[in-house]
Amino acid sequence: GVPIALHILFFQTVASPPSSNFLLLGPSGAGKTAFTTLLEAKSSLASNKSHSTHTSQQSTLVTVTLPPTVPTGSNRYRSVNDPSLKEAIRNPIKYRVKDTPGHGKLRASQGISELQTMSQSKDIKTRLRGVVFMVDTAALVDGATLRDTAAYLHDVLLFLQKRAKNGSSSKRTTEVPVLVAANKQDLFTALPPGAVKEKLEAEIDRIRKSKTKGLLDASADTELEDEEEILGNDEQEAFSFKLLEHEVGVKVDVVGGAVKGDLNEEFGSGVRRWEEWVGMCL
Ligand code: GDP
Repeated sequence: GVPIALHILFFQTVASPPSSNFLLLGPSGAGKTAFTTLLEAKSSLASNKSHSTHTSQQSTLVTVTLPPTVPTGSNRYRSVNDPSLKEAIRNPIKYRVKDTPGHGKLRASQGISELQTMSQSKDIKTRLRGVVFMVDTAALVDGATLRDTAAYLHDVLLFLQKRAKNGSSSKRTTEVPVLVAANKQDLFTALPPGAVKEKLEAEIDRIRKSKTKGLLDASADTELEDEEEILGNDEQEAFSFKLLEHEVGVKVDVVGGAVKGDLNEEFGSGVRRWEEWVGMCL
């Protein structure tokens, strides 16, 4: 009768297909492989399945589960008393993470082409839900690493900006959000997330400026080509993630965490806030 029908209805709303895709990008050494391995370990703990091991050399697509207590965007106000929590424990929400390996100069272009492939999917079930861009916050004090990291992030964001512009304005809600996962917060040499955000914004601003200057120099003796795009559009204003969200609709959050560290061995609590970000995308 009615209870069974209700149950079926409930099951259908809560269960999500294991096809919400997230792309994991970032310089090598940031902790991407460690992160996917941890997510898999956490998931297999929940389902009693063993997990595979992988290395930084292979591209991997892993299906992992969201901890039942992490709220999702479609189920934002889940409380401990909420019956949907019970359902989530019985039938955990799954999502997929694609890790992109690669070394040296290749890795950024590999990452971008992966981004291209995944974001082209028109099927709502397989489309890209979000990008996790991982950084080693202890390594960013080094100028060369900061420049390298910011250049990679710049290219990722410019791709997403172009993608946003090509879509119709009514599709704003389908923009792919970016999480800058400020990893290795367990190290005492790590920059706090706020400082990471400022450094990346300032460095991306520098990249934008030199790009604009290069374009001006080039256009002095040649005809102006198609307008080359500037990240965040507004060249007068200093670059910030806020500006990008305001001008283009691409949202960037910088959130601290740690894949390694005492608490992670059992509970993985150092990645909880990233999982919450993932949940909000679902
Ligand atoms: P990838 O190249 O981005 O896949 O980076 P890896 O996952 O191979 O990690 C690079 C190194 O950083 C490894 O030695 C990891 O153990 C280490 N690592 C990853 N996450 C953390 C973290 O949160 N804290 C610390 N201290 N080390 C980490």
